[in-house]
Amino acid sequence: MRQQRIALFGGTFDPVHVGHLTVARELLKLFALDIVLFIPAHVAPHKRDAPPTSAWHRFAMLGLATQEDARLFVSPVELEAPERPYTVETLARLRAEFGQSARLFFVMGADSWMEIDTWREWERVLTLTDHVVITRPGHVLGTEHVTEAVRARIVDLRGAGDEVIARSVEDHEAGIFFTDTVQMDVSATEIRRALGGGEDERLNATTLLPPPVANFIEKYELYREAHETDRTNAAGGHHARHAEDAGAN
Ligand code: ATP
Repeated sequence: MRQQRIALFGGTFDPVHVGHLTVARELLKLFALDIVLFIPAHVAPHKRDAPPTSAWHRFAMLGLATQEDARLFVSPVELEAPERPYTVETLARLRAEFGQSARLFFVMGADSWMEIDTWREWERVLTLTDHVVITRPGHVLGTEHVTEAVRARIVDLRGAGDEVIARSVEDHEAGIFFTDTVQMDVSATEIRRALGGGEDERLNATTLLPPPVANFIEKYELYREAHETDRTNAAGGHHARHAEDAGAN
């Protein structure tokens, strides 16, 4: 029986945007995945100056964004856990649940990768599944922060064609695959900031959202007030707050 290939895409998704969906669809194709599981995380309320969007709303938006594609799913696994789980716990749990029936790929953007060594039991995180790291405009993709053992598992597929990628995924077990197949300068921080701005800015932000998500945001009047932290950071790069704000990794 062929082993299923499943991508696990963790994040805050506040809100889910076309960057996330493009990454998911591109990986389905290039890595011959069967499904992508979006896993929204808790956000620690005390870690933000402005309250984060309710997990219910973030989950609902992911449901709407993935509804039309049979290969895209949203998982409540982190939100329904009694204690806010760390990524290492979620991956260990999913690893045990799927067993040998599936090959799991944890997906992250370059910004998350550059902070991976701050995550709880990060080296274990990297051994529990395969990993896919996606380049992001404005973010370097380096390897100085990880150990030699981790570096040895990196398969750099930047610039590689579809066939090379497909073969590399077959040939490398437990790989950490770097890919530049998606180059989209879209971020949720920037979208929240724009949604709290003037009419032109709001319209512009809407083009970066799946239409049902844009409608949901309008209907429930989300992001009307730009988060103070987002406004402050807009000048200094939209990921300035990521490390302290991301919550449980
Ligand atoms: P924020 O701006 O609030 O940090 P975000 O746009 O990075 O939000 P997250 O929910 O934090 O969205 O992202 C979940 C995961 O998706 C992270 O690993 C992040 O690096 C990755 N990601 C988000 N947007 C992109 C993008 N445009 N290209 C590649 N990876 C992305």
